[in-house]
Amino acid sequence: MKLHLLLVEDEPGIARGLVFNLEEEGFKVTHVETGEEALNRVWDDHFDLVILDVMLPGISGLEVCQKIRRNDSRLPIIMLTARGEEQDRIDGLSTGADDYLTKPFSLDEFMLRIKGMLRRSEWYRPGSGLGRSYRFGDNEVNLKEQKAMTARGEIPLTELEVRMLRTFFQQEGEILSRAELLTAVWGMAPDTETRTLDNFIVRMRKYFETDPSSPVHFLTVRGRGYRFSRLGGQ
Ligand code: CA
Repeated sequence: MKLHLLLVEDEPGIARGLVFNLEEEGFKVTHVETGEEALNRVWDDHFDLVILDVMLPGISGLEVCQKIRRNDSRLPIIMLTARGEEQDRIDGLSTGADDYLTKPFSLDEFMLRIKGMLRRSEWYRPGSGLGRSYRFGDNEVNLKEQKAMTARGEIPLTELEVRMLRTFFQQEGEILSRAELLTAVWGMAPDTETRTLDNFIVRMRKYFETDPSSPVHFLTVRGRGYRFSRLGGQ
């Protein structure tokens, strides 16, 4: 699967060149011209990195960066500043950007910087099998790598936990009966009497819920089973 980059740049000449070269390198690129569009896109879609021009019509790149950081502390952001805008550079880094490039820059330098950032970002693995991660709440789960980044830190996941999470993610929002979960995760005959399932749900809540005693993601549906809510609900 291609890595997906968001380019926020209002100068058409620069944008065209960057999009062309990033696509040549095998990235998927979404290009927008304003900070408002960038913020709309960033919540709707999964991006692996954001390239953000500071000087934009409407809200500035600095403000965009700040708003992204309020909700996502891990998405890599590289800022593009104009030569001499030393203050922008400092502001950019203090609002949560991970790196900056001063215009005009060479394409080689740009590519090196982008690839370096992607390599450093924890979820990027070079070569094939880039594990896509699934995000909900403060959590980012990588089923392929069998690990999760949560508000409590990084958690290694067992095979059974991965199976349970995959089942929930694939049927997000749907009620799964105890029998369905037991079959999907343990391959057990649905009439098997077991507390294991309940213990696993308790563990999921401990890992992923802000308050495990009042869960918003791993929900009990009384008398019917469990339901996973990505956005968090009752
Ligand atoms: Ca600009």
